[in-house]
Amino acid sequence: MKSFLFLIFSFTIISCSSKTINDYTKDNLDFYKEEIQKQGDIVVSSMALASRHLHDIAWKILYNNSKLCGENTITAFGIMVGERNDLPSNLKTSYSILFEDNFNKKFNNFPIVVSVAQSSPAEKRGIKEKDIIISVDGNETRDRIRNLLSKASYKGSLTLKVLRGNEELEMEVSGTRICGYSVQPLISPFPTAYADGSKIFVTLAALDFIKDDSELAFLIGHELAHNILHFQGEKVGEENFLPISVEDKPEIRRIGDIFIWESQSKETEADLKGIEYSYRAGYDPHSAANYFRRLSTYMPELIEGSVFNIHPGNANRAYNLDKVAKRLKKNNN
Ligand SMILES: [Zn+2]
Repeated sequence: MKSFLFLIFSFTIISCSSKTINDYTKDNLDFYKEEIQKQGDIVVSSMALASRHLHDIAWKILYNNSKLCGENTITAFGIMVGERNDLPSNLKTSYSILFEDNFNKKFNNFPIVVSVAQSSPAEKRGIKEKDIIISVDGNETRDRIRNLLSKASYKGSLTLKVLRGNEELEMEVSGTRICGYSVQPLISPFPTAYADGSKIFVTLAALDFIKDDSELAFLIGHELAHNILHFQGEKVGEENFLPISVEDKPEIRRIGDIFIWESQSKETEADLKGIEYSYRAGYDPHSAANYFRRLSTYMPELIEGSVFNIHPGNANRAYNLDKVAKRLKKNNN
């Protein structure tokens, strides 16, 4: 049903925007191009902003539940890195405009720190968002940042040389163990989240829809439960946590994954474990039920039943989540 709605949505938008570049005179062509640039900048900066928001919450969840991830843990530092090549050709200029330092052109095309997670080793060592990464362990980073970060993760520590304003700074960071599942934003008009065994995607619409961090923590917890309990996916290293990639999306990596969507009991299990994972990371468990209550204002047909009976009804989910929330709080008092 989602893809059907998406088609209608896309068609409506496309059919209203049939003006071509030929309709613009030389005079207003510049304005038109400026507008294209402006909208590209909005796309890339929205992704960066969404990644920062997700990263802070995801870090706490992936760190505090790392014991449950078994072999799928990684050594991480708490940074999400972006580079020009993460973007399709029509958005590459936005990378320069948003992240590069025009006074230091010799460092153009270098990777940047898009996000530093709260209370991560990187934050404690003073690494900042928008730092341009010049070298990792003495090696120049242009075009090989992901390779260098991967090596550093196996080693357990790294020395980062960054450019901040006119200053070059060097910082040494020791890694810590977290679950190796990247949490990234996904461009989509539907307020939902996906897991594919290796990554977790939260849509930009979900980030707009969600009221507080505890609700978002529950959503991430729910998808983490799918990755831990239901999928046999491979972990991903922190170097492949992609904060500005607009093209990265969930993959059906194994055919068995498809059948998970048919199981109500697995959805219920992901709900109940998800609330525990987010609570362990310090989030209010009573927020979880609110997500489903408000989701019903978008889709009242989900209050009792669900599309193709893939998921339990929202009333049922909120009821069960509130029961667990009360139990968790009671056990803690
Ligand atoms: Zn689910």
